[in-house]
Amino acid sequence: MKSRFLSLRCISCGTEYSADTHSRCLKCTGILSARYDLKGKSFDLPQLGRSIWQYRDMMPPVRDADIVSMGEGGTPLINAKRFGSSVRTVNLWCKVEGQNPTGSFKDRAASLGISLARSWGKTGAFTASSGNAAAAISAYTARAGLDCLVLVREDSTPSKLGQIAMYGPKILRVRDVFQSQESLAKALETVQSTLPCWLNHFVWAPYNPLLIDGLKTVAYEIASDCSDTELPEYVFVPTAGGDLLYGIYKGFQELKTAAAIDRIPKLVVAQGLNASPTVAAIESGSKTVPPTDRSETVAGALRVNFGAEHSLIAVRDSGGFGVAVSDAEILKTQKEIASLDGVFTEVSSATALAGVAKSIAMGRIQKDEKVLAILTGSGFKDFTPPFKDISLVPLAETIENIPSALRFSFNL
Ligand SMILES: [Zn+2]
Repeated sequence: MKSRFLSLRCISCGTEYSADTHSRCLKCTGILSARYDLKGKSFDLPQLGRSIWQYRDMMPPVRDADIVSMGEGGTPLINAKRFGSSVRTVNLWCKVEGQNPTGSFKDRAASLGISLARSWGKTGAFTASSGNAAAAISAYTARAGLDCLVLVREDSTPSKLGQIAMYGPKILRVRDVFQSQESLAKALETVQSTLPCWLNHFVWAPYNPLLIDGLKTVAYEIASDCSDTELPEYVFVPTAGGDLLYGIYKGFQELKTAAAIDRIPKLVVAQGLNASPTVAAIESGSKTVPPTDRSETVAGALRVNFGAEHSLIAVRDSGGFGVAVSDAEILKTQKEIASLDGVFTEVSSATALAGVAKSIAMGRIQKDEKVLAILTGSGFKDFTPPFKDISLVPLAETIENIPSALRFSFNL
């Protein structure tokens, strides 16, 4: 299947660039986005395949032999009936991205990025992250036989680095690496000049405009799953840098241009209350995302004090909005979606559902409107057990004691 890729194009001024450009627009500093030839394109929506590569004509060109894939994508869309009814909505759906190979949506970007790294003859790839992106890039470089370097903050916890370390990348702690957008850019530039044959795989459009095209497959899959029913009215997206949000918007936009869908769902940004630069920018009507002083939230993957204008475009053009939720709302929601509908999702992902609950309570969404939340990662990712001590779990001293223990502990 031949790629329909045409060029990277600045979303602000329209200047075109080649596929291997790793920067903002050199003329106006706008974000670059890949453009495809959609003439005569058919999406064959009802046929969901095993990986994002079923859509490879809508990805940048990669040789067959260079594709690095583990069945990423094709994640389930489930109806959260019991949680939905607890927050007074009758049409709530969750896209369970925790079922990707390393447990998060970042695998969609890593599969594309590491395939491009091989295609371009890179010997390794690097990123800065202590979370899902680092796990994804480490796993996919391992599979590709490429070197991998992950920069993490100096105070990263062993539990956070555990999954990443299993894939065997080089992990380097860097003091103050995430202190500001500038410190992060400087760190990535320093590594790139030291390791010129390695790919900068930081998953954020200002550095890596092409990786969005791995993430946009979420929209293709939603449209495919909804082809016999109706598209959601709203899609709630937990948002840090804004790539997933923009990727989903871009996917819907391409589907609409190819006449595979007739409207784009409203995109909603969900962030933590004290880490919500994008929500603040949406509410103030700003054209950029000004950095904030605070970035405190229990949702670790969303602990950012910056964002970028592509997320504002996705929200504005789709008619969506932003919602910020407290730690208490996020943690309550994480427990409820597991105990009511059996979905154990990462605390950061629960932010989207907490945003749904708040938006319904505030009257921004009507009870019967179809709402979809992207649950970006598995609950095992960033997990603190709900009890500190095993003695808090009831114990039957003998088999014969089981009935009395059930009666005493659970009233059964
Ligand atoms: Zn430009």
